This record gives sequence, structure tokens and C-alpha cells, in this order.
Amino acid sequence: MKEPPMSVERIEALVVGAGQAGIAMSEHLSRHGVPHLVLEQGRVAERWRSCRWDSLVANGPAWHDRFPGAEFSGDPEAFVGKEGVADYFVDYAARIAAPLRCGVTVTGVTRLPERAGFRVETSEGPIEAGYVIAATGAFQTPVIPPLVPADAGIAQIHSNSYRNPAQLPEGGVLVVGAGSSGTQIAEELLAAGRKVWLSVGPHDRPPRRYRGRDFVWWLGVLNKWDADAPEGAEHTTIAVSGAHGGATVDFRKLAARGMVLMGRTEGWRDGALTFADDLGRNIRRGDANYLSLLDEADAWAARNGIDLPPEPEAREIGPDPDCMTHPRLSLDLRAEGITTILWATGFSNDYGWLRVDALDGQGKPRHQSGVSSEPGIYFLGLPYQSRRGSSFIWGVWHDAKFVADHIAKQRSYLAYRAPGDTAAAAE
Ligand SMILES: Cc1cc2nc3c(=O)[nH]c(=O)nc-3n(C[C@H](O)[C@H](O)[C@H](O)COP(=O)(O)OP(=O)(O)OC[C@H]3O[C@@H](n4cnc5c(N)ncnc54)[C@H](O)[C@@H]3O)c2cc1C
Repeated sequence: MKEPPMSVERIEALVVGAGQAGIAMSEHLSRHGVPHLVLEQGRVAERWRSCRWDSLVANGPAWHDRFPGAEFSGDPEAFVGKEGVADYFVDYAARIAAPLRCGVTVTGVTRLPERAGFRVETSEGPIEAGYVIAATGAFQTPVIPPLVPADAGIAQIHSNSYRNPAQLPEGGVLVVGAGSSGTQIAEELLAAGRKVWLSVGPHDRPPRRYRGRDFVWWLGVLNKWDADAPEGAEHTTIAVSGAHGGATVDFRKLAARGMVLMGRTEGWRDGALTFADDLGRNIRRGDANYLSLLDEADAWAARNGIDLPPEPEAREIGPDPDCMTHPRLSLDLRAEGITTILWATGFSNDYGWLRVDALDGQGKPRHQSGVSSEPGIYFLGLPYQSRRGSSFIWGVWHDAKFVADHIAKQRSYLAYRAPGDTAAAAE
């Protein structure tokens, strides 16, 4: 077996990215005694610091949105702010003595031609690694649908770059997308005195709390965090908020406070945005999702004899607002005084640096629970990587364990020597 040139640094496992996924990966690799290195282009948990709006808090309470091995300091029922979440991971990385190198960008990964492993190009020179784990995040590249021309005279910003209301030009704001980001930002803008329009697509809308338990608890006992991806879905749009102590997202109440709701944003014609005639359907689908969770919760509590305070008033759905019964199908932005479109329309991934046989024709990871089609390459933190919780804080920890276990198994096969073997089968 050929050895690498002496000048090239070599490490057995290389983790790309030091968000929660990379840190969880480091913990599990250390438990298996796998020598490894974590490379991070920015700081630990960089995206929690620099790609979230100022007031963002975690979607789940502190007792839930964490790794199993460490609690947040402070009130376990609180929704921790984004800086607190980032600090938690910095502390966690120190506690497990994660071998980190920050400020180093991975620019390319290729399979070595004559030896096992990969050549990893970085901003600080090449490294050779036996295993590479791509932990670069599910929410990498902001997606803005190419609808409104750049010269339309309207500011356009993605939720990834939104920080606070004062950052936006004076005037009304159209928020496109009613997942957790879109609804929280729209509400913040409304509270800041802006006129707000919200384009609402299909979504799930769990109750924030029901019968004295947060929805994260209900999803846990109902085994929904561990559920497989729904047929054909890569991501579930879920409207939930921990802001101001957490409350159920209720679009009818937002409309009653002056927010104008529309259906899915569809097109652009003569200075006007057009919307699908699906607002009522989308909101009622969210209601059905909400009510079905209450039903499942009640059935689970009854079946298990768990005595929780009943909450029949949670089933009351308010009257449909006028904007829902007579939805606007087009908006002349200038005439309405809208100066900003805020696109809360999600993210795509860019694995262009991964020049190995681990991606499909669309550049998406080809994998089974993170084990890619290129032996030695792994993914972590993907939506529905193995379960619904995969891209969330607590879920990724379990996926990291699975990936580290897989690497440990591969190492033990490679370490095997059959009786009579003379040459090493592999390193
Ligand atoms: C607005 C928003 C709110 C969220 N709120 C919650 C929540 O409350 N609770 C929850 O559980 N989940 C939440 N999530 C989902 C998820 O927990 C976060 O997105 C989290 O940041 C994902 O962690 P990660 O480690 O997988 O990826 P990231 O946090 O994206 O980490 C990836 C890291 O890789 C680095 N990197 C990327 N490319 C390279 C490269 N080529 N070389 C070196 N380094 C590289 C990046 O700098 C980054 O630090 C939220 C997501 C979003 C978008």
C-alpha cells in the first residue's frame, strides 16, 4: 500500500462543519476512539450567530432542544435565544475537547487515486482523510424564487439576511412563506407597526401547548420525531413559534390584528404579484393538522391512563377573516405601499465541493441514513436523514451516533486479519 507524501497532513476522519451536527459527530467519533479533526469555515455554531434574526429563540423549550449529555443553564421551560444556543455548542465542544480548527474552508474532496481515502482541499492546504463527514447544514443557500425582477423597485431580502424591522426600508412588507421563520418575522414586523401581507402555503400547525404539555413533548410520546419522511416530502413546513414565551401560530388572530393573508405566491405580471386561490384550503389543512394532533394526544392520554388537565377550549377555531373568505389573488406592490418582499422560502444545499460519487443528478446527497453511495463519505444534519428530528438539535445527535457506529464497524472490518494473512489488507 502506498503511503501519503510526508508533506500532506493525514487524519483518519475529517468532519466538515462545526454546527451542532459536526460537534455531535466529534463526540461520537471520540467515544469510538477514532482520530479526527473538525474543520469550520467560521466559528463554532456560526449559522446560529450570523444567519438568524436578532430576536430568534429556539422553537423548542430548553429541556428539549439540546443534546442528551448537557442541559442549558437557566429555566428548562424557556426558549433560548440564538446566541444562547450558539454559546451552548461552544461550551459543549470545549467539554468534549472536540479537535476543532476554525476559520478553515473545505473547497474540494476527491477520492485518492492509488490509496484508500480522500484528498481534502482546504483554505490552509490539503489534508488526506480516510473518512469524510459532510456536516455543512441543511439550511445552506437561501432560495428566492425567480419571480420579481431585480429592477422592479422593490427591496427583496431572504429570511436568512433579516435581522430586525429597522433594517427594512420604510413602508409595507410582503412576507412570502408561512413556516416558522415567515410567521415569526411577519408577526415581529406587525408588532413594530408595519403593514404586513403574508403569503401562506401548505403547512403543519401544531398547538404550542396542549393539556399542560408543549407540542415537542406530544410529538415525542406520539413517536412523531422518529417518523420517516412522508411520501415525496423532503421537508415539512411547520408554523410554530417560541417567541415571547411561545404561543400557537393562529393565522386568524394575525388577520384580526391587521395582517393581510394571501395564498401561495405564484407569479409576477405587470408590477403585480399573483397568488393561488388556495388560502382557505391551506389554512384549513393547517387546522386539520392541529386538530388531529389534539385527537391523537387525547387518545394517547386515555389509552395510557395519563391524567392531564382537559382543555376543550383548544378546539375552538375562530371565524374566518375577510381576507380568507375573499382572498386577494394579485397585489400591485407599489399601489399597496409595499417596499419590501421578505422571502421566507427556505434553503437549498451546495455540495459542489464534494467531487465524489455521493450525489445524484441534481447534486443531492445519495445516502441511506447518512451513509453515502461513495464508501467513506457520510452526511449529517439532512432533513429526514433517518427521521423527522434529523435536522434538529436533539435528532442530529442520534444520527451522528449511527454514522460514527458505521465508521467504527468499517474500521473493525479493515483491522481484521484472516489466519495466514501476510500483507495488511488495508491501513
Ligand atoms: C431560522 C432557523 C431556526 C431554527 N431553529 C431551530 C430550533 O429552534 N431548534 C432546532 O432543533 N433546530 C432549529 N433549526 C434547524 C437546525 O437546528 C439549524 O439549522 C442548525 O443550525 C443546523 O445545524 P447543522 O450543524 O446541521 O448545520 P449548520 O448550523 O448550518 O452548521 C454547518 C457548519 O458548516 C460550516 N461550513 C459549511 N460549509 C463549509 C465548508 N466548505 N468548509 C468548512 N465549514 C463549512 C458552516 O460555517 C456552519 O458552521 C433552525 C433552522 C433555521 C434556519
